[in-house]
Amino acid sequence: MTPHQLAKLPAVLFEIGKLVGSDLDPGILLSRIAELLCSLINAKACSVMLLDADRKRLLAKAAYGLRTERMHTLSFAVGEGVAGWVVQTGEPALIADVADDARFVALPANQTPIASMLCVPLIARGERVGVVTATSEAANAFHVDDLELVRFIAMTIALDIENVRLHRVAVTDPLTGAYNREFLMQRLPQEIEATIDRDRPLSVAMVDVDHFKAVNDQYGHGTGDIVLAEVARRLRGAIRGGDLLVRYGGEEFLAVLPKADAGRAWEVGERMRQRVCERAFDIGDGMALLLRISIGIAQWRMGETMPDLIDRADTALYGAKDRGRNRVEVAP
Ligand code: GH3
Ligand code: MG
Ligand code: MG
Repeated sequence: MTPHQLAKLPAVLFEIGKLVGSDLDPGILLSRIAELLCSLINAKACSVMLLDADRKRLLAKAAYGLRTERMHTLSFAVGEGVAGWVVQTGEPALIADVADDARFVALPANQTPIASMLCVPLIARGERVGVVTATSEAANAFHVDDLELVRFIAMTIALDIENVRLHRVAVTDPLTGAYNREFLMQRLPQEIEATIDRDRPLSVAMVDVDHFKAVNDQYGHGTGDIVLAEVARRLRGAIRGGDLLVRYGGEEFLAVLPKADAGRAWEVGERMRQRVCERAFDIGDGMALLLRISIGIAQWRMGETMPDLIDRADTALYGAKDRGRNRVEVAP
């Protein structure tokens, strides 16, 4: 590490601390950290790769100095290449020239020349979760000080990365990928607050699948589950980015629609209804079935509590069931 690099160190560490404490999108946060690392240790490129859900492959999540399309193809199996070796062993690697290192695997589409490389594991709560890699086109570009520094930074960010992943798991229903009820209880009051502060409407839509028991009875619970996951995908496809889809109960979903008044929410409800009924659900073995949903809409009223709002949507839903199902009703 040169005196020049050393002088930059406090500012870079401060910047990384600020990033880690911010609520930036994890992909953007990691890209910024990759950029800071490049400048700090004079690397040509830097990437952060994380293990996938079954912990068999590393996938690049962020990079600096690589073209975006290259980054998305950057992936190694555990044990493959330098990165795969590092995540397998938990040991860092400092390579003066990759030409002399048997672990190095040149990627077929590799256009960025690499001579030296350093790679450190990302370890959170004792588990290996990924690697941070820095490369240079010059041989002998990195010193053991650089390695230690990247190791330290990797240690700082690993827990944060893992927490983001754990939080996502904690608020998500595993079958449908929709948010769970715990998340609704925590989030809907915040949305109501924002509605008051910004003087704008908010509506919710309670969705229930029509005659879903018949699907289970006829095709089995497993098929019912597959169908339910597809229902959730179609519902998500019908709402906007700022809207939330929550699995409220077994085959009941609640869509939270900030900024939507009852009229607008009715349109969203109609779109959800159409997305579900317009195409058959593929259930394997060349079989398919048709489904319909009923929806109750309620627009939040000044002073109304969260349970009262949900109750009104539920009552509207029962109105839709009573009036023949496959329809959207708005609470008075
Ligand atoms: P309707 O709503 O139109 O009145 O009829 P329904 O048959 O959908 O009525 P009900 O709400 O009483 O039944 C819901 C059924 O959904 C009952 C339950 O077996 C099924 N169900 C709930 N959760 C799950 C799940 O996670 N997986 C599967 N496969 N089925 C579920
Ligand atoms: Mg039902
Ligand atoms: Mg139900």
